Amino acid sequence: MSAFLIEKIKKTGKGKKMKKITIAIDGFSSSGKSTMAKDLAKEIGYIYIDSGAMYRAVTLYAMEHGLFNGDEIDVETLKSRIQDIHISFRLDLDTQRPDTYLNGVNVENKIRSMDVSAKVSPISTLGFVREAMVRQQQEMGKAKGIVMDGRDIGTTVFPDAELKVFVTASPETRAKRRYEELKAKGQEADYDDILKNVKERDYMDQSREISPLRKADDAMLLDNSIMSIPQQKEWLMKQYLQAIQ
Ligand code: C5P
Repeated sequence: MSAFLIEKIKKTGKGKKMKKITIAIDGFSSSGKSTMAKDLAKEIGYIYIDSGAMYRAVTLYAMEHGLFNGDEIDVETLKSRIQDIHISFRLDLDTQRPDTYLNGVNVENKIRSMDVSAKVSPISTLGFVREAMVRQQQEMGKAKGIVMDGRDIGTTVFPDAELKVFVTASPETRAKRRYEELKAKGQEADYDDILKNVKERDYMDQSREISPLRKADDAMLLDNSIMSIPQQKEWLMKQYLQAIQ
């Protein structure tokens, strides 16, 4: 971060208790919103919640409990078990990043697989799944001081958030990012499959009936197609500093 911003943070915090706000970062899949959100939360000492990880964890639960028959979901059984699906986040001391736990088991790597990516959008169209997740997310954000990323955070989960950002980039840029992320983790990856998945999820997320992906009217739009990660970080920090003035 630039010396200018570090100085500004120090000045903003000097002599007074900094106001805690709610920060909602929505956008398309693999738009880099999680990286930005995580980094900001770490920098300003806020809780970070990846709401997509929660929908991915429900999807993994359904897969591991035989609730998928091909692409068909056993909706009734999932509905009857939704209260038994407990999702939490714990800080990984090595990576300094929060890992996702499903009923007490670390599923961080499993939920990022292509199998889960291919099935998560249909799961997240289900009304009872969304209700259960939104309830948990709102509970997590009760005390403010939270950065949450997802698809409906600024529109449904925290409509009163003081800072809302909507992140986008071209499907090709996003597919390339996801491809490189999976490769770096040593996981199987095929660029064309990923691009297809990105486009399919864009379509499903935008056209679903409940809480479709859309920019909240009062969200700031960020197209980061040609921005580096440090540039995005700096941009977001500036918006945060303005929001807490
Ligand atoms: O953010 P990520 O790509 O990991 O999210 C996985 C999927 O979860 C999205 O494609 C979307 O279908 C769903 N999702 C959602 N609402 C959120 C976050 C994610 O429907 N707030």
